[in-house]
Amino acid sequence: MTVPIIRRLAALRAKQSDWTRAGEKVGVVPTMGALHAGHLSLVEAAKAACDRVVVTIFVNPKQFNNPEDLANYPRTEHEDAIKLAPYGVDAIYVPDPDQIYPDGFASNVAVAGVADQMEGACRPGHFDGVATVVAKLFLQTGAHQAFFGEKDYQQLLVVRRMARDLDIPIEVVGCPTVREASGLAMSSRNLRLSAAGVKQAGMMHPILTSLAAELAAGGSFAPLGKQAEADILAAGFDEVEYLSLCSAVDLRALETAGGPDHPARLFVAAWLEGVRLIDNVAV
Ligand code: AMP
Repeated sequence: MTVPIIRRLAALRAKQSDWTRAGEKVGVVPTMGALHAGHLSLVEAAKAACDRVVVTIFVNPKQFNNPEDLANYPRTEHEDAIKLAPYGVDAIYVPDPDQIYPDGFASNVAVAGVADQMEGACRPGHFDGVATVVAKLFLQTGAHQAFFGEKDYQQLLVVRRMARDLDIPIEVVGCPTVREASGLAMSSRNLRLSAAGVKQAGMMHPILTSLAAELAAGGSFAPLGKQAEADILAAGFDEVEYLSLCSAVDLRALETAGGPDHPARLFVAAWLEGVRLIDNVAV
């Protein structure tokens, strides 16, 4: 049986207040749809931890800094509802645009610090869009826990910071990246790659993991990172927008991996066939 789609905030609130009155723990999985196994792993984590699970699907125009990317973003609501059916979620919230951005909407949630570098620097306004919509989804769903993928690790830290700073009583839970057999991180954007592109994209993860191993062994990032960038281009990518070694806690740039007390992470954004792919791995 497919799960009913809720499009109005009032209907969501009615359900949510029934659940909270019954003392049930509510989990939310925010997505932009075009669901794949990565999203579904978040749904599984939410189902395991919560009594009620709401999946939200909203392609948020405010977080796209590139109009072409927004126009090309896959929209597959019907298929998404079918994919969610076996998971026993309690609601799919696909808000009408005016439920998120009513006429005259004039507010903005801006996070500094962890939002400043990498995605924040390359995509001006992106994290304002993310933080604003996610703050609204947290408040609209009244969820106790929210599930986010480490695939978008910087986003996970931004959202966690935002919820803490704004005293939104929700726990932000990070879940591991789900990958194809090649190691390619699952992403809705992979749908826009040709078969050859998917193959080339699959070469990124082995390059990252071997760089991570060299860094974990004490190597210094400047020369090793340069070589890895060259390897990514040789694999067929058109451009490496950034390849960074950062603290996994506050995303400050590092020259060497800091050891077990100071976990580090490698982050990459690269272009292939006009598609921008991002990934990250622990060092
Ligand atoms: P999106 O629909 O791309 O905005 O993603 C919605 C949520 O799914 C975010 O928390 C993402 O980090 C997460 N996600 C996307 N791809 C993956 C993946 N391959 N593995 C785990 N989580 C993912």
